Amino acid sequence: MAARILIIEDETTIAQLERDYFELNGFNVDLCHTGPEGLRLALQGDYNLIIVDLQLPGMDGFELCSQIRQAKEVPILIVSAKKEEIDKIRAFNLGADDYVTKPFSPSELVARAKAHLTRYERLLGKQEPLQRPEIHIRGLVIDKAAHRVYVRNREVPFTTREFSLLEFLATHPNRVFSKNELFERIWGMDSNGDIATVTVHIRRLREKIEADPSNPQYIETVWGAGYRFSV
Ligand code: CA
Repeated sequence: MAARILIIEDETTIAQLERDYFELNGFNVDLCHTGPEGLRLALQGDYNLIIVDLQLPGMDGFELCSQIRQAKEVPILIVSAKKEEIDKIRAFNLGADDYVTKPFSPSELVARAKAHLTRYERLLGKQEPLQRPEIHIRGLVIDKAAHRVYVRNREVPFTTREFSLLEFLATHPNRVFSKNELFERIWGMDSNGDIATVTVHIRRLREKIEADPSNPQYIETVWGAGYRFSV
């Protein structure tokens, strides 16, 4: 399977140049142009390598690098016009694997990316996926394999149904689901349960994962429509 690369770069010509070279070398490439969009894709997507520009709208590359690194074992390559040693050191301290300054040679960038991919595969002892079956969203960690949930570094017990509901919402971030949809997905059409059980379970999830359940940051109520897991 072709390696998947995410390029977070706001200068369109550079982003397209990078994409063209990676695609020529057999990679699947996604592009995005802002920090917040890059973070969202990086955390949700199944990428083998991420290329990060430092000066980006919304959130800079240092912050991006730090947040991606906290959540994932994925090679991160910085490509930046910043040439100062202090920027490079900061990037490496935040978990970057490499630092390429602009203007750069696209062929060298691809060669470096391949070297990092190989090194990660060797380190992790497997071909792919390079990611743990975990969802990390701010202070919340959902371990899908072990069915465990950690809230701000503390494990919180979940019933099977609560876990299913949380996992479903978290794997479909920023999408609104009505109570009916959630009931059908989690409890099943043939369940004898009552749709009110959705409301009860949402409340329980909030009590478990939200710092302030009355002002939820993860599971938002969209009035008249349903619920949305916000990332
Ligand atoms: Ca930039």
